[in-house]
Amino acid sequence: MSTYTASVRDRGHSDVLVIGSGSAGATAAITAAQEGASVTLIERYGFMGGISTQVLDTFYGFFTPGQTVRKVVGGVPDLVVKTLIQRGKAIVRPNTYGAGQGITYDPETLKMVWETLAVEAGVRILYHTLVIDVLRDGDRVTGVVAATRNGLISLTAAVVIDASGDADVAAAAGVPFEGAADGPLQSLTTTFRLINVDTERARAVKKDELHALMADASEHGYTLPRREGSVHITPLAGVMATNMTRVSGVDPTDTEQLSQAEIEGRRQAAEYTRFLVDRVPGYEQALLASLSTQIGVRESRRIFGEYRLTREDVLGARKFEDAIACCGAPIEDHHAGSDTVWHYLPEGETVDIPFRCLLPQGAEHLLVAGRCLSADHDAHAAIRSMGQCMAMGQAAGVAAVQAARAGASPRDIPIKGVQDRLRQIGAVI
Ligand SMILES: Cc1cc2nc3c(=O)[nH]c(=O)nc-3n(C[C@H](O)[C@H](O)[C@H](O)COP(=O)(O)OP(=O)(O)OC[C@H]3O[C@@H](n4cnc5c(N)ncnc54)[C@H](O)[C@@H]3O)c2cc1C
Repeated sequence: MSTYTASVRDRGHSDVLVIGSGSAGATAAITAAQEGASVTLIERYGFMGGISTQVLDTFYGFFTPGQTVRKVVGGVPDLVVKTLIQRGKAIVRPNTYGAGQGITYDPETLKMVWETLAVEAGVRILYHTLVIDVLRDGDRVTGVVAATRNGLISLTAAVVIDASGDADVAAAAGVPFEGAADGPLQSLTTTFRLINVDTERARAVKKDELHALMADASEHGYTLPRREGSVHITPLAGVMATNMTRVSGVDPTDTEQLSQAEIEGRRQAAEYTRFLVDRVPGYEQALLASLSTQIGVRESRRIFGEYRLTREDVLGARKFEDAIACCGAPIEDHHAGSDTVWHYLPEGETVDIPFRCLLPQGAEHLLVAGRCLSADHDAHAAIRSMGQCMAMGQAAGVAAVQAARAGASPRDIPIKGVQDRLRQIGAVI
């Protein structure tokens, strides 16, 4: 709808407007600005990173899992990792929980890294700004309306990138999507970090041992919904980070349900801390130091785009003419229940991510990037790793700039030009 008039202040026009500064949006904004476009980035919180800094500390998806380790993400995502390593706040960590080699970082440092790279590239950042609607001219998305402390504002652009994770912009523009009404979504997780851990003894507790301790504790007065949760070392001495809690059956786009999930996630974090301190070697003196900024949402809305990536595509390592990124990460399903289910691609293989998965049906001059891409539930469960979200953001950034320069909608620009430029800047296609 485009009915906002007198009470909405116009805050300008950009070549590219990015909504959401998660792994996808941050990379899209940095890439588009490095390509020479004027870029405005809108974020509802007061820092960049989305789940990468609100909830997590390990990039997966850069490498294929298994014995044949192959790096499958490059370009601007490498710059992010390089900057973290230069600051001494990232470690490459072999993974024993299924996703392959990861890059574990300090999320507080990553907030500054994202921001530094964006500012250096010339991105205009608007924090504390919540997009609530779109501006349209027929099928063309021309901008967004956002709520700020100073009232409603509007921003317009040649191309809009929806990297909100929840497809807020696409949904407001009437793009069809699948969500909680269409089948079970992945469970939500409040992560937490413990300080004062004897990390040498704690890391000596192997995965199976930890799971056995969880199973035993569950029979002796501890309420642990997920009994295959993980805990890992961090670049900070004495600090361990967890991925343990599980809140299921929630529609993350419903404020009432999300509020209850936040309360339940924190309650579980306290209970898992009690378990670790009481029952696991190395945690005897540990203290709960921090909780994720909000409960981690793995899946909410998946848009319908020009192509919909499927489980068969992923497990068959399918290749596409319009590939803009690739993924070797397994399907990782955090369903309701005590375990997590993993399905792997053939050893060392990757599936392509087609550009058409970023092109929403029925909306022009709009791209999506990140976890709201066009994919079925299972394909999404592989492609959502942060490495792939960054790679999609990078592709969306390049495509948006080329479309803005041509005065065209992203679906009308030659895909070869996007692919050529992506390869030039280091993307792996
Ligand atoms: C608990 C959990 C554990 C995971 N573990 C891993 C892991 O270990 N490694 C890994 O690689 N991946 C992991 N994933 C997956 C991965 O983290 C996400 O899929 C990925 O970070 C999504 O990135 P994104 O940019 O698409 O979305 P998000 O990171 O969700 O970013 C969206 C951004 O948009 C902002 N936003 C949303 N709506 C609006 C609006 N209306 N207006 C303004 N701003 C808005 C948000 O604040 C946010 O900053 C995990 C996910 C979860 C939830």
